[in-house]
Amino acid sequence: MGLFLIGKVSVDMELAISLNVFDIDMDKLEQGVKRSAAAGFACLDFNFCDYYRVLQGMTWEREKAWVTRVSDTADAAGVRFVQAHGPMYRGKLDDTFIDLCERSLRSAAIAGVRWVVIHPINLTSAAAYDRSDRSLLLGQNVDFLNRILPVAEQVGVGIAVENMMDHRTKEGACRQVYGSTPEELAELVDTVNHPLVGVCWDTGHALIQGLDQHSALSAIGHRLKATHIQDNDGLTSSHFLPYHGIIDWDAIMHALRDIRYTGAFAFETHRAIRSLPDELRDSALKHAALLGNYLLSKIGENEP
Ligand SMILES: [Zn+2]
Repeated sequence: MGLFLIGKVSVDMELAISLNVFDIDMDKLEQGVKRSAAAGFACLDFNFCDYYRVLQGMTWEREKAWVTRVSDTADAAGVRFVQAHGPMYRGKLDDTFIDLCERSLRSAAIAGVRWVVIHPINLTSAAAYDRSDRSLLLGQNVDFLNRILPVAEQVGVGIAVENMMDHRTKEGACRQVYGSTPEELAELVDTVNHPLVGVCWDTGHALIQGLDQHSALSAIGHRLKATHIQDNDGLTSSHFLPYHGIIDWDAIMHALRDIRYTGAFAFETHRAIRSLPDELRDSALKHAALLGNYLLSKIGENEP
């Protein structure tokens, strides 16, 4: 955790790491919690999205027991879950998907998570989206959020909509994806206009989208509630650690400082750690914690 004084305002961001840095295995998640704590992380991101297939076939009672076990392990290890990744939209806004979203909110509440990250609803790859006429997708996303908000209210957990990125087809054409620009996200959040709906900023997606991250984050401003901190080469969403791609990290840290962001600074950096042999993951995780604390320490530098 970093507490830094900026002028007369304190900026308190919490360094966190997604448990997706370990193997995607329900039975190993408690080990992941303990290993993250031992590496120096005090806060965690619960990666429900990686378990959606298993969770779909699981009763709520069993899911609840699993989340309670993992959550108890976190308590015992002295770490806290602060954000989570909900199920990812895969082209079908049906009851199964809504149920998974609602369950991720209920599970998040058990784990003590404040914000569950959800991707916006998009058209299927076969259909074209043109952001100059975004009313259809704005409406669909507002309806979707309003459908799951009653459960969010019931359990007191927020929904943070993540910034996406446009896709380049093999032929080089650009397929626009709703939620890739700060304007779309700000408009969506403002239209729903609910204290439990905000934005999650993925630094790697924003890089690929070609955004100026300082001005984009300034446009998101107070709506920012969660982060996915990752680096890449500007072409592929690689989920590397900061400084292993081409992101200007000074610009990101200054932007977070300028908008007085106080949530989780959460590494979503599985490609930097999970790709390693298991014996090397703990030392890489320690390095990740050092790197995160270094970035958070930079935020207070050069202030008057
Ligand atoms: Zn992300």
